[in-house]
Amino acid sequence: MIGVLALQGGFAVHVEAIEACGFDAIEVRTPAQLAEVDALVMPGGESTTMWKLLAFQELEGPLRERLEAGMPVFGTCAGMILLSASISDGRADQSSFASIDLDVRRNGYGRQVDSFEADLPIAALDEPYRAVFIRAPVIERLGDGVEVLASVDGTPVLVRQGPVLAASFHPELTPDTRLHRWWLTEIVGASS
Ligand code: GLN
Repeated sequence: MIGVLALQGGFAVHVEAIEACGFDAIEVRTPAQLAEVDALVMPGGESTTMWKLLAFQELEGPLRERLEAGMPVFGTCAGMILLSASISDGRADQSSFASIDLDVRRNGYGRQVDSFEADLPIAALDEPYRAVFIRAPVIERLGDGVEVLASVDGTPVLVRQGPVLAASFHPELTPDTRLHRWWLTEIVGASS
């Protein structure tokens, strides 16, 4: 079973995208729901709010345990921020799981271009992928173990470290399900 963290933000569209790929998906709001899933999407939204809700729902500890045990996870935008090693321009009470060795700057693309789209060549996909960036985080540092799958103007925007896939854009906001399908078959499938 695939889970989508459903505390806040764009979770419903991720559920639809996963179902469109032919997989079952559930919304995860409680430790009991988290225990049912083999892999998790952490969606875009507002990372500061999500971090507070993780504590409020008593999910932070159980999710950290699953991430440390190697559960496949796909973090998009705010989800990527929550998985990163460190956050610039975060709130003082905001932290992260450090599941992937990268540092991000929240809203790092600046206000004047805080939303944009780009046609990305992605190594795993044969045709470019239209990526939607909304107040996206910028990856400012990448560890040696992190593989870059796509970049915009030299800055990585889709990266992978083992079971952790992270995108600074929103793959759920276009009808193109190729990235979800690739994640489900190549990363989740290979890890289960
Ligand atoms: N700027 C948001 C944050 O800091 C992320 C934006 C998004 O997920 N679209 O959480």
